[in-house]
Amino acid sequence: MANHKIRKAVDPHVLLLDVVGSERISPNVVRVTLGGDGLERFTPSGFDQWFRLFLPRPGQDSLKLPTATSGLWYAQYLATAKQKRPYVRNYTVRAYRAEQRELDVDFVVHLEADGTCGPAATFALNAKPGDQVGLLDQGIGYNPRHEHAWTLLVADETGLPAVAGICESLGDDVKGVAIVELPSIEDRQEFRVPSGVRVDWVPRNGAGGVPGELALARLREAQPLDGDVYAYLVGESALVTGGRRHLVEQQRVPKNHVDFIGYWRHGRAAM
Ligand SMILES: Cc1cc2nc3c(=O)[nH]c(=O)nc-3n(C[C@H](O)[C@H](O)[C@H](O)COP(=O)(O)OP(=O)(O)OC[C@H]3O[C@@H](n4cnc5c(N)ncnc54)[C@H](O)[C@@H]3O)c2cc1C
Repeated sequence: MANHKIRKAVDPHVLLLDVVGSERISPNVVRVTLGGDGLERFTPSGFDQWFRLFLPRPGQDSLKLPTATSGLWYAQYLATAKQKRPYVRNYTVRAYRAEQRELDVDFVVHLEADGTCGPAATFALNAKPGDQVGLLDQGIGYNPRHEHAWTLLVADETGLPAVAGICESLGDDVKGVAIVELPSIEDRQEFRVPSGVRVDWVPRNGAGGVPGELALARLREAQPLDGDVYAYLVGESALVTGGRRHLVEQQRVPKNHVDFIGYWRHGRAAM
């Protein structure tokens, strides 16, 4: 999924959390706010902090969560009978408010042609206060390991929470560009962006095609800025691998200056 070493989570725990609210914040995004005592053991790290989200399957009234916090959670998961396993999906911390003990997650609501969607999008659409989920912190993907003059972020709509979190965490002097493809321009969000960083919104506005194709086309058209770049690409698999190929082969960016995480793959459910 990722081509590089991510920054590991600090003191992770499998947390049992409650839904405290949910709101459709834009045409294609539902924001679910999680809370509860479990958040006492959550360590916010900023940037694109992401986590495994454990969701009940239909008909399950209690969540059977793994207890291991290292990679061993997956072995425990596989050892659980299939019908008792929760769904597991990956999401990003969109905001964390320590005082209120609340954590926001923005879910892209991606509908198939027949009007159905995956378990995570279905959960977001139906989330109501008191619903329970599990969360296991996985750390931060944005991880530049060399001096660079500018930062390039490329994402589809699933990467908007990551781009927002990274922009909010970067220093004031950072320069760069963020290319973010969205289903519609109304899915654009306001967040703090360093003054030297330009956000280039690329709305599909009803145009067909696989999410990520327009962001990749915009990247191919873009003029590189001067000096060394650190590029970080997140979103649909073809966007991030195609973007990296373009940067490395056409723009001669050293391979280790381009990190990516494939967030999802068109036509394939997560697990
Ligand atoms: C590190 C990381 C962080 C992520 N953060 C976020 C986040 O903050 N917000 C967010 O919305 N997503 C995020 N994602 C992506 C999310 O995990 C996937 O989109 C996931 O597949 C959604 O699960 P689902 O149960 O709704 O659909 P699945 O059951 O996994 O898939 C069902 C079908 O829907 C398709 N599909 C899945 N996602 C999309 C989509 N976005 N658009 C169109 N079709 C889709 C699949 O190809 C499949 O055909 C992140 C992924 C990773 C790896």
